[in-house]
Amino acid sequence: MKVLVINAGSSSLKYQLIDMDHESVIAKGLCERIGIDGSKHTYKTPGREDYVEEAPMPTHQQAIALVLKALVDPDHGVVSNINDIDAVGHRVLHGGSTYTQSIVVDEDVKKVIRECFDLGPLHNPANLMGIEACEANMPGTPNVAVFDTSFGMGMEPYAYRYAIPEEYYTKYQLRRYGFHGTSHNFVSHETISYGKLPEGHRRVIVCHLGNGSSISASVDGKCLETSMGLTPLEGLVMGTRSGSLDPAVVQFICDHENMSVDDCLTMLNKKSGVLALSGNKSSDFRDLRQGELDGDERCQLALESFRHHAIMTIGGYISAMGGVDAITFTAGIGENDGDMREKIMKHFAYMGIKIDEEKNQVRGEKMEISTPDSTVRVFVIPTNEELAIARDTVRLVTR
Ligand code: AMP
Repeated sequence: MKVLVINAGSSSLKYQLIDMDHESVIAKGLCERIGIDGSKHTYKTPGREDYVEEAPMPTHQQAIALVLKALVDPDHGVVSNINDIDAVGHRVLHGGSTYTQSIVVDEDVKKVIRECFDLGPLHNPANLMGIEACEANMPGTPNVAVFDTSFGMGMEPYAYRYAIPEEYYTKYQLRRYGFHGTSHNFVSHETISYGKLPEGHRRVIVCHLGNGSSISASVDGKCLETSMGLTPLEGLVMGTRSGSLDPAVVQFICDHENMSVDDCLTMLNKKSGVLALSGNKSSDFRDLRQGELDGDERCQLALESFRHHAIMTIGGYISAMGGVDAITFTAGIGENDGDMREKIMKHFAYMGIKIDEEKNQVRGEKMEISTPDSTVRVFVIPTNEELAIARDTVRLVTR
């Protein structure tokens, strides 16, 4: 069975065609500058040179048409006919309070995605365009929506409700949703299966540390807590996002800088986090690490602050679960930065967590990095959101 996985942004569209019999990627690519001059499609197949085409893509519909054309092309294509693609899985940012799981797209699903435009103004309209573009170009092929918010829907009201008047929850669905849900779901389940965690010992903390970062706590794969909130701005200090702060900071900046709330939120999303703490040196952790090694105090501050918030979140989640059986690191920093993992985990030495220094050198590979006598097992497990989307798609279209 072949599944096309689509991640549509406002002016871009990432895709992978996955052969689910072997869970292998047979082609992938990116359409950039959709709706803007200079659109470009980059198409990659394993073992062959990249194919790059510059062609107008005024809408997502034209972008999908180009992708399908490349996939069936006699020279560089990987399928002989569009009908060889059995289903399409779409990453959709927000399913509001309606969807706790992935679902086959129909008119009702599209209506809910549309109703959630307010909650995901940058992503949901683009996600819907991706779905409609597939419907137009591949009539009869089922589309599945996989929501980034589904995993966080496992939280109980005491965790997801903001302590603000109830009317804002009932009128606008204002609550904590959590994001990176597809990744947290995938990695927490992989932790259970890879670590062979026995029943009753499946309290898992997943540290998804990348440019955007979030941490989740789950029991038996059900989310108990996750650090992002109504939007991805809440929670940890991130690459360019501030993470949680006193809302009065927004009012103060808006008043004193004569700034609109919109502009202030853009600043908090795009110009804050470790980028701001490092004195605008970089949001890339490799640059910050080099700065730290060179004795740059701002880079040290940025990294210390990042670690501090991660440590406090992990510690809080251990308490909330009354203990923890496994802690797993994933995403760009979590998978590659052994120094970050070691420095974070050192704070839990008091409870008997021990990291094997040699195993902790691992980059981008599945590995248990704790010592055999560690009280808690610690893993690195690469995330694979596309595969998670494709697996859900197969499950839903074959039942
Ligand atoms: P992601 O958002 O998951 O793609 O992660 C991107 C982040 O991972 C960037 O901030 C990179 O600096 C970071 N990253 C990637 N490779 C490494 C590495 N070897 N050491 C430290 N950070 C890394």
